[in-house]
Amino acid sequence: MSITVFRTPAEWRMIKPATGSIGVIPTMGALHAGHIALVERALGDNKYAVTTIYVNPTQFNNPDDLAAYPQTLDEDCAILEQAGCQFVFAPNYETLYPDQYRYRIRETEISRVLEGEYRPGHFDGMLTVVLRLLNVVGAEVAYFGEKDFQQLLLVREMLHAFQHSTRIVACATVREPDGLAMSSRNRRLNTAQRALAAQWSQTLANLALPCQDVRSQLEALGFRVDYIEERWGRRLGAVYTPQVAGGAEIRLIDNVVLPGQPTF
Ligand code: AMP
Repeated sequence: MSITVFRTPAEWRMIKPATGSIGVIPTMGALHAGHIALVERALGDNKYAVTTIYVNPTQFNNPDDLAAYPQTLDEDCAILEQAGCQFVFAPNYETLYPDQYRYRIRETEISRVLEGEYRPGHFDGMLTVVLRLLNVVGAEVAYFGEKDFQQLLLVREMLHAFQHSTRIVACATVREPDGLAMSSRNRRLNTAQRALAAQWSQTLANLALPCQDVRSQLEALGFRVDYIEERWGRRLGAVYTPQVAGGAEIRLIDNVVLPGQPTF
C-alpha cells in the first residue's frame, strides 16, 4: 500500500479506515531512525500507522530555532512509505489553529521546571498541538519517545486528566553508535560539533559523576549548560554546543534512567 498524505480533518474523515486499530506518531519531521522505531512499534501493535508531521510554531520560544528547523517532507514521506506507514497527516497553521491559538493547554507543575524553565511557553504549545493532533486522528494508541522524557510525562498525564480515549506508549531512546541520542537537530551539527556531541551524551550517562561534575566537565569542553538534574528516576540535561568551526549553537537534550529505577 502506498502512503497517503492528508492535510485536513475533512480529508481524514473521507479516507480513515472503518475498522482496524490505528497508532499515531506525532513528529516535527526531518525523520531519523528514532522516529522510525516509533513507527515500527506502532505497526507492530496496530493495523495502521498515522505519522503526523508538523513543525509547530507555538512550541518554539526562539524564532531563530524555528526558522532553522529542518523541513524535509518529501524525503520523510519516502522513508515512511519504506517503513510501511500508511498515512501522513501534514496540516498547516490555519487548519490546526482556527482560533489563532486563543485556546491552549497549560499545566502548572511538571511544565514549570527543566525544559519549562528554560523554554517559556514551550510546553503550552506542545501540549496544545498534541491534543489537537490526537483529536483529529482518533487513534487507539499514540507513540512517544523517552528521549523527550518531560514531554512524555506531560502528555501521559494530560491524556489521563482529560479522560482521553487515546492510550500512550513510550519507546526507548535510539542512539548513534557513540551514544548520541538521535535528533532532527543533529543534522545542523558540523563535524567538530558532532564529535563534541558524543562527549555530551557520554558525560551525562556517566552516573559515577555527580551532576555538578558533569556540568563542570561539559563547561570545560565549551558547552553552555542549561541544566543537569536528577528527577523522576532519571538524570536529565540540556546544553548548547560550542560555536566551533563557524557552527551555530545547537541545543541538545537527553536523559538516562538511574540505577534501580523502572524504565517508563
Ligand atoms: P520530534 O520530531 O523531535 O518532535 O520527535 C517526535 C517523537 O519522536 C517524540 O515522541 C520524540 O520523543 C521521539 N523521538 C525523537 N528522537 C528520538 C530518539 N532518538 N529515540 C526515540 N524517540 C525519539
